[in-house]
Amino acid sequence: MKVLVPVKRVIDANIKVRVKSDQSGVELNNVKMAMNPFCEIAVEEAIRLKEAGAAEEIVLVTAGIRQSQETLRSGLAMGADRGILIETDEALEPLAVAKLLKAVVEREEPGLVLLGKQAIDGDNNQTGQMLAGLLNWSIGSFVSKLETGDGSISVVREVDGGLEKVRLKSPAIVTVDLRLNEPRYASLPNIMKAKKKPIDMFTPEDLGVGVAPRVTVLKVVEPPARDAGVKVSSAAELVEKLRQEAKVI
Ligand code: AMP
Repeated sequence: MKVLVPVKRVIDANIKVRVKSDQSGVELNNVKMAMNPFCEIAVEEAIRLKEAGAAEEIVLVTAGIRQSQETLRSGLAMGADRGILIETDEALEPLAVAKLLKAVVEREEPGLVLLGKQAIDGDNNQTGQMLAGLLNWSIGSFVSKLETGDGSISVVREVDGGLEKVRLKSPAIVTVDLRLNEPRYASLPNIMKAKKKPIDMFTPEDLGVGVAPRVTVLKVVEPPARDAGVKVSSAAELVEKLRQEAKVI
């Protein structure tokens, strides 16, 4: 089985995000970027499937600016086999990404597409679901356990109030949740090896996909600063404040 893993370049999760002074978006200049943490989990799972003999090839794909190649290289250093960059300077919405991924799926014909459940920059949680809709494939979202066997893929989904076990017909889409695994660090020899792994380049036009935005961002603002806390001298005073001032009990 071939596994396709779409990965996104985002602001490093350890960096404090700053809003641009003109409120048109967040500052990306001179900011450390990294692979979206949920995409790292998807790459790790694909590698574990290959190590277990359930996958033969792992193909990474990313859509974005030319520097997104670095994100592909870090996944190749973890253990993926090759990469695909769909290069565009356009700000991509989930529907545009899903259409690009559909075109790649039609070329590559994977048995499984493993995505992150969400990208931590836009917090959309839409791309996997839209891709499944466009392809008319089965989907397991928010997956915390994955097993493959005789033409089907069994997953455990994290749903409100519990865990749901679902069997998917292959080919399928899976979006991964935090508890699925802990991604490995790339070793230095593997980082060196990754430099030689192939990356194919396309543009959205090559794939016949229009990516013009349909949504206009009107304004991005910082969340309001939190008020300073107060010390209370007794439990009774705390209860009184929760009741009278915060009005939460
Ligand atoms: P989102 O729907 O934007 O929250 O993203 C969910 C998942 O879709 C991510 O974890 C990636 O696996 C995939 N994805 C989103 N944007 C891109 C992109 N520009 N290139 C490749 N994969 C992406």
